[in-house]
Amino acid sequence: MNTRVVRIDEQHIDEALIREAGWIIKKGGLVAFPTETVYGLGGDALNPDSSKKIYEAKGRPSDNPLIVHIARMEDLPALVRTVPETAKKLAQAFWPGPLTMILEKSEAVPKETTGGLATVAVRMPSHPTAKAFIEAAGGYVAAPSANRSGRPSPTVAGYVVEDLDGRIEMILDGGDVELGLESTIVDLTVEPPVILRPGFVTQEALAGALGKVELDVTLFSEDSGQAPKAPGMKYRHYAPKGELTIVRGASAAVTAYINERLSEGRKHNKKTGVIATDETIGEYRADVPRSVGKRTDVNAVAKGLYRILREFDDEGVELIYSESFDGDGVSQAVMNRLLKAAGHRMINV
Ligand code: AMP
Ligand code: MG
Repeated sequence: MNTRVVRIDEQHIDEALIREAGWIIKKGGLVAFPTETVYGLGGDALNPDSSKKIYEAKGRPSDNPLIVHIARMEDLPALVRTVPETAKKLAQAFWPGPLTMILEKSEAVPKETTGGLATVAVRMPSHPTAKAFIEAAGGYVAAPSANRSGRPSPTVAGYVVEDLDGRIEMILDGGDVELGLESTIVDLTVEPPVILRPGFVTQEALAGALGKVELDVTLFSEDSGQAPKAPGMKYRHYAPKGELTIVRGASAAVTAYINERLSEGRKHNKKTGVIATDETIGEYRADVPRSVGKRTDVNAVAKGLYRILREFDDEGVELIYSESFDGDGVSQAVMNRLLKAAGHRMINV
């Protein structure tokens, strides 16, 4: 299959191209598109064959459900059994935006889209190109991140090309994404609601709208003894090809420990990489040192993380050490992704 890559300027959206992209979806094909979080791999959410194609193109296990993207609040009721008050409140506060809600699904949503579950994940993105594309596609676009399964989610169209060229009909290139980490997922089918994946809409923000909101216990520890509630969470995601270890502790101790490991790695002829911040990056003796920005700017850390993980792959880095990014709010999202990328390998010094 020949994949067409077309540039779309979100300030001046080319309506003819968007219509064409929408038409591909309506005919059962796949189109990757930019959102404010990461690039999505879109197919018709109400067409079981489209969902099967998405799993195939990604190489994703088919019990890992897809998020259904909508462009208008009027389109939500058709997807769900009922729209609970909690969903109305969250939509009011955070849609369009980086929040996905889990609700009980209607008959209209095929089990192929929800990985066999009786619930459906729904999000309304704020990116102007995503909104125009979803409308042109008929209103319901199932879209996981536009990467091959197990690779970091793409934050620029070039990474989508890298992973999916020849496997999908079209890629809408909208340049750099704004946020760089996937949406917050909150399960509204339980009381109190539970965050299944942390993101830019933080626990504090959700609690502000709903009262009590819990964080799924499996998010930050591997050995909680409980099965993850979002099926996707049982898979090792976002993994760089090199072996990644997070090092947590006082800054000087972390730097000393990592430098010791780096020189040990070099002795064994391993190519080494480091993820640090502007404040400390100069102190590391790695082959590929990468700063995610200022430690105080957690949004920049979130935005840069996946790009850096991919750069390590491109450079053939075999051994990677990362500083830790503990904290509330968006830091929870950063640590969650970093832990997954590291297969939960973390050392306290
Ligand atoms: P991605 O689209 O790559 O960001 O992955 C979608 C994520 O949403 C995966 O981790 C899924 O497991 C999760 N998800 C989608 N639908 C549901 C659902 N009905 N219940 C729980 N988690 C879901
Ligand atoms: Mg993904």
